[in-house]
Amino acid sequence: MCAIVGIYDSENAAKSAYYALFAMQHRGQESSGISSADGKKINLVKKRGLVTDIFDENAFSILKGSCAIGHNRYSTAGNESIFDAQPVFAKYKLGEISVAHNGNLVNKNEVRSELIDKGAIFQTGMDTENIVHLIAKSQKDKLVDRIKDMLTKIEGAYCLVIQSRSKMFVIRDRFGIRPLSLGRLPDGGWVVASETCSFDLLGATFIRDVRPGEMLTFRKSSPEPISEQVFEPDFHPCAFEFIYFSRPDSIIDGTNVYESRLVMGKRLALEQPADVDLVLPVPDSGVAAARGFAEGMGVPFEMAIVRNHYVGRTFIEPTQAIRDLKVKLKLSTISSLIKGKRIAIIDDSLVRGTTSKQIVKMLKDAGASEVHMRIAAPEIKFPCRYGIDTPTQAELISAKYTPKEIADKIGADSLGFLSLEGLVESLGKDRKYSLVSFDGNYFAGGSASSPGCNDLDL
Ligand code: AMP
Repeated sequence: MCAIVGIYDSENAAKSAYYALFAMQHRGQESSGISSADGKKINLVKKRGLVTDIFDENAFSILKGSCAIGHNRYSTAGNESIFDAQPVFAKYKLGEISVAHNGNLVNKNEVRSELIDKGAIFQTGMDTENIVHLIAKSQKDKLVDRIKDMLTKIEGAYCLVIQSRSKMFVIRDRFGIRPLSLGRLPDGGWVVASETCSFDLLGATFIRDVRPGEMLTFRKSSPEPISEQVFEPDFHPCAFEFIYFSRPDSIIDGTNVYESRLVMGKRLALEQPADVDLVLPVPDSGVAAARGFAEGMGVPFEMAIVRNHYVGRTFIEPTQAIRDLKVKLKLSTISSLIKGKRIAIIDDSLVRGTTSKQIVKMLKDAGASEVHMRIAAPEIKFPCRYGIDTPTQAELISAKYTPKEIADKIGADSLGFLSLEGLVESLGKDRKYSLVSFDGNYFAGGSASSPGCNDLDL
């Protein structure tokens, strides 16, 4: 998951990076970092925690310079140390370098083992550190050529922002799996960011999406970024960005996320109608799809489940014994709206089934006479290896059970999923999407059983 941002040739580069990271907090809450360059040196501030907790006036007094890159990290379990915060900074033969990465390299372990065999030492569990080593080890004279060398050795999903003391390089993998957009700041500077919702906060003008397989070089001597197509594009943007991950106000590769969720919800109503009195979303991720479903069904929509917005991922995880409390901490019901009604409850996706089970119970406890769960995505049967945090296949409930069996397990009166065809048609048939969680087509390498992002134990 994760968010990246790069600001070039702007007066308040670090502050702009900060606002962009703030707008993209949903993409990662574990840690955050910004490095800035002033032509002579790279400065770095990174810590665990939320963006607003990390950067203060002291941080901005360190982060001088007209170029800044930043990162929000979403970590998988077990690797939450400060060492795994980004950007990753290093000194090497050509000077200083800083790298921020969104995505997941599928050949991380092979590359790392090879580097370790040759004597490399690592400080973090992140695939991003491979990138820094590969650049440092390249024998090319110029950084741009070292980056191209490195790109031939990594596989999988990546959006990269790489900063030297005076330049900035931006790369999107040839599949364009993760989103990355280019914009112009009000002071004429440049911004690249994972999501366009950050441009809105910065007052930046959207220019275009970075193309799959493209590298952009920002340097003082050229007024516009230099574009090079380093790989033949084979565009497969991630469907899950539209289903769940991105903010609804972002526009990804030309498609508004909220609108695509509305369409998915309408399609779900056609494919999996339910004889109900009321449609409710699981807030916040199911809201747009539930609106579409309600409209498609011609049934009233209510926000009868209320979310406590102060329960973030930073909230102390309940122990196993009080795990049931977890959903109650976050969600509660307005029972007067629910009592005696037949309810359709809409969520964007079903992963382990644990949240859903508790939500169904919550609705029944509030007096719902029937609870019909509808999911605005197909059944998730395979782990994503390209940067969406999904559990192992054994933990994916749809990998083991039919919708009817799951309905019984979660206590719902019925359960229905959007079909794969329905998803593809909702997103638009004009391009291919990364549907790996649903169809197991690991087109960019990796497999269902290959290791995830952080599980190398060498
Ligand atoms: P569950 O009922 O336990 O399967 O959880 C489903 C919920 O998890 C849905 O509300 C989704 O919005 C949410 N979800 C889907 N994918 C992810 C993810 N990668 N990380 C965290 N939450 C997710």
